[in-house]
Amino acid sequence: MSKFQSPTGMGDLFEEDLKYFQKIERVCQEMADFYGFQRIETPILEETGLFVKGTGVTTDVVQKQMFSFRTRGGDQLTLRPEGTPAIVRAYIQHGMQSLPKPVKLWYFGPFFRYERPQAGRYRQFYSFGFESLGGGAPVIDAQIIQIFYNILKTLGIRNLIVEINSIGDSQCRPYFKKSLVSYLRSHRASLCSDCKRRLRENPLRILDCKQEKCQRVVRGAPQILDHLCKDCHDHFKNVLEFLEELELPYSLNPYLVRGLDYYTRTVFEFFKDSNPSTTPASPVPKQHSKDALVGGGRYDGLIKLLGGKETPACGGACGVERVVNLIKSKQKGIGKGLEAKIFLAQVGQLPKRKALKLFEEFRRARIKLAASFDKDSLSTQLKIADKLKIPYTLILGQKEALREEIIIREMASGKQKIVPIKRIVREMKKKIKK
Ligand code: AMP
Repeated sequence: MSKFQSPTGMGDLFEEDLKYFQKIERVCQEMADFYGFQRIETPILEETGLFVKGTGVTTDVVQKQMFSFRTRGGDQLTLRPEGTPAIVRAYIQHGMQSLPKPVKLWYFGPFFRYERPQAGRYRQFYSFGFESLGGGAPVIDAQIIQIFYNILKTLGIRNLIVEINSIGDSQCRPYFKKSLVSYLRSHRASLCSDCKRRLRENPLRILDCKQEKCQRVVRGAPQILDHLCKDCHDHFKNVLEFLEELELPYSLNPYLVRGLDYYTRTVFEFFKDSNPSTTPASPVPKQHSKDALVGGGRYDGLIKLLGGKETPACGGACGVERVVNLIKSKQKGIGKGLEAKIFLAQVGQLPKRKALKLFEEFRRARIKLAASFDKDSLSTQLKIADKLKIPYTLILGQKEALREEIIIREMASGKQKIVPIKRIVREMKKKIKK
């Protein structure tokens, strides 16, 4: 075994996975073109302060999950754990605030979080995201949700459920927070140790704690939907009406708060519904696998927080590996790459040289060939062709090479025929078309 292994939670990606990644990226690009989103790729590293301020100092991402380090020059940098703060940084840095609004951007790339690795949770993972900056209308929230829905649907993922909630804004959330904290304080003893800390730092996060004991407390807690101010209430109602119009199956989840600090109003997560028979638009959260495929929401305060003008915005991100795992588990593969139907075997120095040239002729004719140029024995090469279940092997021996001929061998029957080399590409084109 090699002395070195890939870092924990960070794996190598092979063709088998990458072809799914490429397919997902293609579908994103098509959707982006249709809805008018421009691609952006920000650096893998950003100033640590961007995430501390943007994602939020009390969030799990910032407190526990960042890969941060000091450069030789003394800069404090972090491998990006999520996309939104970097997009906002780029938006402000490049003066995109003066562009016609909304500015619509999308990205696809690797992200890094120091997590306990498990299925669907890695330390390096890929995400794609769609962000719309500069638009405050509820229709934008609905359109962002629809884009993710369309992408996943196009990729063949069925029974999706969109959990949605509103967490209010700086007008109404403080009042809700107050009544929530006073309720939770009276149940402090029943909370897990993380939530005892959250009670001081980030009480809203207690609402989506996965610990059974905390969920029991939360079930009796005041609900934010009852505390929304009129503007937030109307906004949310409009978003839901759009989703209904679009026939997007959503489920209200009054405990959905999302892990990041910058959200205002709409928050949403996508899951694979494991109980698809219940009615859509149900007010009861459904049963589903625990890992969200997509997460997002509105972040009307973030651009100002990071130094820009007050600008509403909305967006989301989807985990690529989780989508790939789902597609794979359905075994609805996206078809293997072009399989070779011809094997080119050669025996001897002159035949090897001619075979290399012939290989290129086939490439130019866009006919896929398999070969093992490093093997010299004919029987070894025939065995390989057999193993690959290739129907035709072309054999170039010393005699054939001198006569400018080549043998076509039908692997199933063992029948052989000799043809001039200059005719072989045309001949094989006909044969594999049949
Ligand atoms: P978040 O910003 O935490 O909502 O993450 C956005 C999306 O990225 C999630 O919905 C997941 O699909 C995916 N994701 C987040 N963290 C990880 C991880 N550690 N491994 C794999 N995918 C992840």
